[in-house]
Amino acid sequence: METPWLPAISTATLVADDGLETGDGSAVRPWSPRALMRGCARGVSAAGRAVIDLALPPCCLACRRRVADPDSLCVRCWSAMQFIERPFCEVLGIPFAFDLGPGVLSAEAIADPPGYDRARAAVLFDDASRPLVHGLKYRDRQEAARLMGRLMARAGREILSEADLIVPVPLHRSRLWRRRFNQAAVLADHVSRLSGIASDPFALARIRATARQVGLDLGARALNVRGAFAVPAAAKARVSGRRVVLVDDVLTSGATVEAATRALRRAGARHVDILVFARVVKGEANPI
Ligand SMILES: [Zn+2]
Repeated sequence: METPWLPAISTATLVADDGLETGDGSAVRPWSPRALMRGCARGVSAAGRAVIDLALPPCCLACRRRVADPDSLCVRCWSAMQFIERPFCEVLGIPFAFDLGPGVLSAEAIADPPGYDRARAAVLFDDASRPLVHGLKYRDRQEAARLMGRLMARAGREILSEADLIVPVPLHRSRLWRRRFNQAAVLADHVSRLSGIASDPFALARIRATARQVGLDLGARALNVRGAFAVPAAAKARVSGRRVVLVDDVLTSGATVEAATRALRRAGARHVDILVFARVVKGEANPI
């Protein structure tokens, strides 16, 4: 059943309140003339908006083809997206090929139970979802985050309905300095606005700079992020006894969210769920 604060997702609901993309695929900076036009568009009439759309036609967030609505995907890219729907493992959230009945767990969740309680993802990480993930992370396409956030809020409606607090997976300050923004915090902000659950980007800190996880095997990934997270003393009261939803863009091996979960539990979090936009599923060809 749909939660009242979430519209059913269809191509029609992918229309956003604002949006702008350059035709050549480059990112729009908040201080650029085009971005200023977009800001102005919020206050102008529908006719004014139509003029801006005519001058700067919206593009598909994945393939850059022209589309009718900003912050949306073309029909081809939307159809290629592999949305994760039930039946799936109630703990790991990985999809099952067959419906085995309610509450069934995957072999992986039974053999190696995760430290977190439940994980949910909107889509599989694959060729269709990769352009959105990389567009936000590496090319600062903040408009992709609006669509990703809406899909995440929908995929996580059950865990969000029981949550007290949303916490984005933090970047180390050195990486934040280079990238200028934390994509997980941007997504958490969108999910927060849609769900009404507060997001606290300062509840968890990455206290140790880590190598990128890309290219590392499972064991090396776990070692790389061990002890990398902590809840600052000033934030402990905000986490203790709370039901937390930890937000990230992609779930790969789970090593990062496991390490972050341990830090939240040490600070007294009562319950930790994971919500990501895309997740890697074993057996899929999906290099990050
Ligand atoms: Zn497209």
